[in-house]
Amino acid sequence: MKTLAIETSCDETSVAVLGPQGEVLANLVSSQVAVHAPYLGVVPELAARHHVEVLPRLMGALEQQGLLGDLELVAVTQGPGLIGSLLVGTCYASAFAYARNLPLSAVDHLEGHLVSPFMNLEGRPAEAIPDGALTLVVSGGHSSYFLFSQGRGVPLNRTRDDAAGEVFDKVAAALGLGYPGGPVVDRLAENGDPSAFRFSPPRIKDPHGELDFSFSGLKSAVIRKAQELGLAPLSDPQNPPREALDLLASFRAAVVSWLLAPLEVFCQRYQPPVVAAAGGVAANRLLRSELQRWGEASGVRVRIPPLALTTDNAAMIGRAGQLRAAAGLLADPLGLEPYARVSWKGSGERGTGKR
Ligand code: ATP
Ligand code: MG
Ligand code: FE
Repeated sequence: MKTLAIETSCDETSVAVLGPQGEVLANLVSSQVAVHAPYLGVVPELAARHHVEVLPRLMGALEQQGLLGDLELVAVTQGPGLIGSLLVGTCYASAFAYARNLPLSAVDHLEGHLVSPFMNLEGRPAEAIPDGALTLVVSGGHSSYFLFSQGRGVPLNRTRDDAAGEVFDKVAAALGLGYPGGPVVDRLAENGDPSAFRFSPPRIKDPHGELDFSFSGLKSAVIRKAQELGLAPLSDPQNPPREALDLLASFRAAVVSWLLAPLEVFCQRYQPPVVAAAGGVAANRLLRSELQRWGEASGVRVRIPPLALTTDNAAMIGRAGQLRAAAGLLADPLGLEPYARVSWKGSGERGTGKR
């Protein structure tokens, strides 16, 4: 089904058009980074207002490219995310679907990240996701492995505190490197020595969560070290001293090795036919190269999305919407309510809609 997709869950306004097999015909993303950068984080009210302005413009661009004819499905992010931002997208998508008499698919944002490693930007059909695929979703709000089973992602672990992306952002903020922190920390870490500082991984004693992540201790340790060294904030963020580069390289190496640490156990336990990574932190160069290397060494197929499909985008929402629609799951354009949070039981389960 040729699909229009809309994603406005946080601070990226995005629209996409997909061919019937998940071919990406267009994927427009307008980032609000510049709007929120002075505040070192996303300001919800500003984000929602921006979506209101930008979404119609992006739709106009799709119209001009002649991409809005013959649509068969509208997909939109229902949650989780910022409620004001979600409302802009869900209202727009509902109205559009109703006016054109098209079926509407309400997608969980995480479902979108989960399908993204199996998509491409060359206009080829999306790959089928094999049962048993193991996917690490690492983003601003999530750090979890999911096992794909009967069309759904079942979470295998979670973070006990901060998400990996959040920790990149907070460490960068403490050093005065701006927002979002992931990309700049990643770039600077390339020139540092990852063995300069050692950070010991957390020990989680809970027998039901021994493979859970925990990143807040690392965040505090890195910020404390930066303060001790007089690097928080950096006096010249454009020209960080050697010690800062080493600290960032050691920090990045710790995050990546902790993220990949549960792989062995999960692979032994579930024998996945493919291992994938998704979400904004899957843009990280070290994570990408280490996961590829792991795949070559272990002989397990690895899938990592192209960079533009790691951070938030509507293309992944469109694909997840197509899979939902194919399973007969559709939403009512006159009654679609976004939800801010989800209590995780797997990507097929829905949030309560309550905040
Ligand atoms: P969620 O998907 O959990 O709701 P989100 O949508 O805000 O959260 P994404 O847009 O998927 O998250 O990812 C944004 C996060 O990815 C930010 O925290 C950002 O710092 C991080 N990130 C982006 N690029 C990189 C990189 N190269 N290295 C590390 N982190 C990165
Ligand atoms: Mg974002
Ligand atoms: Fe996201």
